[in-house]
Amino acid sequence: MNSALKPALAHALSTRRVGLRFAPALENQFKQDLGPQRTQAALASGGFGLVLYVSFLLVDWLVVPDVFELALTLRLAVITPLGLLTIHLAHRHMARLVALFGPAFADWTAVISGWAAAGTLLALLLASHSPHAYFYHAGLMVVLLYATLVQSTRFAVAVVTATGILAMHGVAGLYGPPMPTAILIPMVDMVLFAVGISLMANYLAEKRQRRRYLLGLQDQLILAELQTAQEELQRLSRSDALTQVANRRHFDEHLQQAWSRASLEGSPLSMLMIDVDHFKAYNDFYGHQAGDACLKAIAQALNSSTRRPNDLVARLGGEEFGVLLQQASAQTARLTAERVCEAVAALRLPHERSSTADWVTISVGLVTVRAEAPSAGPQVMISRADKALYEAKREGRNRVKAVVA
Ligand code: GH3
Ligand code: MG
Ligand code: MG
Repeated sequence: MNSALKPALAHALSTRRVGLRFAPALENQFKQDLGPQRTQAALASGGFGLVLYVSFLLVDWLVVPDVFELALTLRLAVITPLGLLTIHLAHRHMARLVALFGPAFADWTAVISGWAAAGTLLALLLASHSPHAYFYHAGLMVVLLYATLVQSTRFAVAVVTATGILAMHGVAGLYGPPMPTAILIPMVDMVLFAVGISLMANYLAEKRQRRRYLLGLQDQLILAELQTAQEELQRLSRSDALTQVANRRHFDEHLQQAWSRASLEGSPLSMLMIDVDHFKAYNDFYGHQAGDACLKAIAQALNSSTRRPNDLVARLGGEEFGVLLQQASAQTARLTAERVCEAVAALRLPHERSSTADWVTISVGLVTVRAEAPSAGPQVMISRADKALYEAKREGRNRVKAVVA
């Protein structure tokens, strides 16, 4: 999820407002996320609504038998085909319809289908001479309840639908067959209550839906943050704080894995044990901070002089580094070790107190093993590399000493 929404999300969750809309960016996200789900629900309840609409023919036959033919025509020949066509088109071509009629297409479809169902009742009520025709005010209320509660449209849509249906009550009252006075007042009462209650319920449903959405979004956000934090922790736990190359822990893990892999494949594995020459003297003369900067520069040089993605450079502690080379022949490893040694010397970091050169140098102990050899193991490899390093120091430093086991 988009973390830019975080402030808007926090604000929306912490404030209790009457209004339903979120801040613009969050509102857009909400519509995008829930749009398909809403369309799906509208299609399903639209189909169900159509079945109910047709089944009202029974009521027509009982209450307004004089206009039953009109009822049949309106319900079966006009509205049902239109409804089926709309459902079919919406099912198949929603994206194109939205592109053609704008994003409010689904909302207007909901409004118009509600009005169409109510309009059928109004037409029958006005055309009929049945003394019971005013009963269709109750029918209008059923349509209202269905449109605002079952079809669960957005509140704004429900208000538009309800306003239209309320107007139809008015027209029916003015131009329809007169209602007995004893029924008129309770009927007006019921209509107003039905409008009020259905809008209230619709509003509360949308409010709840929006709140659920916010909470879901918040969960996603927390999860994403946790994941990022975990990745960062993992990265930190594997890298050396000063030089940013791998640390000893990661080196050991990597060595273990590389060892298993080399054993399986029967491929050679090489390790460079590196130690900075006369580093104590460097620190004493240039200061600890300069010493740190020197270690960083050396780490970079090691990194850039090892080339393959599987090569690993690590700071093993103090002024010691390790490099692991997988699937490299003894000769390739030797060339890499020479390159590494030269790369550090080529930095030409001045070292006045070195008896080896005028600049900072390193000594490298190199060991190449065949991991399937029964007596060998990662620890043996490390101690051999250590020994080779010791030899390199003893032979005068600033050099590579190799052993092949
Ligand atoms: P050799 O050529 O035999 O390796 O001699 P050396 O002086 O490099 O070896 P020694 O082990 O005597 O000294 C290592 C020095 O490295 C000691 C310490 O001051 C320095 N050192 C270890 N860790 C750090 C570090 O994190 N930062 C700095 N600036 N110095 C460090
Ligand atoms: Mg040392
Ligand atoms: Mg040293």
